Amino acid sequence: MEFIPAGEIVDNVQIRTVTISSDPNLPDGEYAFVDMYCTDDACDCRKTMVAVMHNGAQVATVDFGWETDAYYQKWMGGEAAGMPKMSGASIAMCSKANLREGVLILFNHLLNEQWIGKFKEHYRLVKAKRAGKQKENLTIVSALKFTDQYQDLLQNIETAIIHVHRHIPLLDYDVMEALEYLIDTYKHISQGREPKAPRLNQKTGQLYTDIMEVCCWRMGTEAVSPELGELPENVTIYSAADIVACLKRILKSVKKWNKGYGRTGYLTFIGKFSGKG
Ligand SMILES: [Zn+2]
Repeated sequence: MEFIPAGEIVDNVQIRTVTISSDPNLPDGEYAFVDMYCTDDACDCRKTMVAVMHNGAQVATVDFGWETDAYYQKWMGGEAAGMPKMSGASIAMCSKANLREGVLILFNHLLNEQWIGKFKEHYRLVKAKRAGKQKENLTIVSALKFTDQYQDLLQNIETAIIHVHRHIPLLDYDVMEALEYLIDTYKHISQGREPKAPRLNQKTGQLYTDIMEVCCWRMGTEAVSPELGELPENVTIYSAADIVACLKRILKSVKKWNKGYGRTGYLTFIGKFSGKG
């Protein structure tokens, strides 16, 4: 089953963050907790999966169920040997081994009625939105379809963004600016007109060039950079109009995450889904 961050569906979600220094179990830095929920509206799992990010990179996942053991046993159809504990907080095995203990201690330390209340509310809203009015459902479905159709291209563009961010720390605002220029450029290209020269600073200039490189590559233009290499034979070649649609889509996502989570809300969010290095 798929889990998605509450912020993908619910408006104005605030990500909880805490700054740690001199903790015996954890490296210094900013820790952010992104609560995610299962999107199956027929499933009543009553839990959240919390992605724990350290300075923008995911280091651990905490599963938290707010109901009692009895509830989950009944939900799973009776007590079974080796059944994972769902009540309370537990650390997922995919978490970094050396941080598991520290993260779990920190999570339990931060846990309070207010935070649990937020989880319950987000869970309810995610499920309600998924199950709710057909119109809303259709919007979500079409959004998911779009993401499916263009998944590789969206990923190529976001990887380019994260790559720049790792070398020159960016703000969401830089990304928005570069995307706006790129949308304009590719609109011109799709209409067979000469693109206007954008006015860019060092950061937005780097973003503009790198994203453009990846887009040219996906359009089947001759490999612009040795790093990207030749486009494999069986991949989809996209048109300038496809590129515009994807850039717009990413811009929308930057705006949404930025509005909900602050100056680097979007960058933090996409950093979570990309590997290190
Ligand atoms: Zn579920």
